[in-house]
Amino acid sequence: MKLKINNLSKKYSNGIQALDNVNLEIENGMFGLLGPNGAGKSTLMRIIATLQDADSGNITFENINVLEQKNEVKKVLGYLPQEFGFYPKDKAYDLFDHFTMLKGITNKLQRKIKVEELLRKVNLWDKRNIKIGEFSGGMKQRLGIAQALLGNPKLIIVDEPTAGLDPAERNRFHNLLSEIGEDIIVILSTHIVDDVSDLCENMAIINNGKIILEAKTLDSLNSLKGKIWEKEISKHDKRSYDEQYDVLSDRLFAGKTFIRIYNDVHPNNGFLPAEVTLEDVYFFHLTDIN
Ligand code: ADP
Repeated sequence: MKLKINNLSKKYSNGIQALDNVNLEIENGMFGLLGPNGAGKSTLMRIIATLQDADSGNITFENINVLEQKNEVKKVLGYLPQEFGFYPKDKAYDLFDHFTMLKGITNKLQRKIKVEELLRKVNLWDKRNIKIGEFSGGMKQRLGIAQALLGNPKLIIVDEPTAGLDPAERNRFHNLLSEIGEDIIVILSTHIVDDVSDLCENMAIINNGKIILEAKTLDSLNSLKGKIWEKEISKHDKRSYDEQYDVLSDRLFAGKTFIRIYNDVHPNNGFLPAEVTLEDVYFFHLTDIN
């Protein structure tokens, strides 16, 4: 399966160029679309999901012209938006019984089989008779995934999924995504670098509406191998390091400030070699170092 995006552009009426000539090729498995807030991720996801129109360019999925054949897209698409409205008084079972009815399963027993399969998959079968209003953020996300999986989609779009989840919920959600991602395309759109490094074999970075990197995740890490260095510094010295080095990031760890820099060769001056992380890749491409 292949999703091809060619020369896609979108400008909002306020003059913001949300997408600027985007080209991407996405194959089976999990694909991470990574970028800061305002980069254009949601705009791209909404256009692929046929919820919004582009100004120019085209998208194909298998033999479907995505921008023109919206009904065909809807048949194969599962979309999990940033926020979805569930009625808080509904119970998960009743809601999915209703959804499966809308999908055309009129036989009650068949619906039960389908609803049970879905709710078990997202580990909510035990909670089927609890009101959704009482669900945690993570449970609601998993319910969203169950909804996205309803029609056995071939393409699933997940927009900013783990914001607001606690670590255990995030883990559970990751495991669930990685299980469904093998023989269909799952696009994960996020500003959370770890979500992409944990889950996605392929990825792209978008900034100001432009794709600035498209790569296999491991290749992108290897490309910076031996060039990332770390040092603990006094936070008062941060500015002078910023001036002297290509600083990718700084972080506090146990009350101490650590900086990470990009340098082709060992910079000496107390820096130690560091294992490349996807965050290094992300900042390397977002800043004008490269
Ligand atoms: P992301 O999902 O990466 O945060 P978005 O696609 O939501 O980015 O937004 C990309 C840019 O387009 C931002 O500058 C945003 O303010 C702008 N934008 C998004 N939606 C609209 C809209 N409906 N009208 C005008 N500008 C918008």
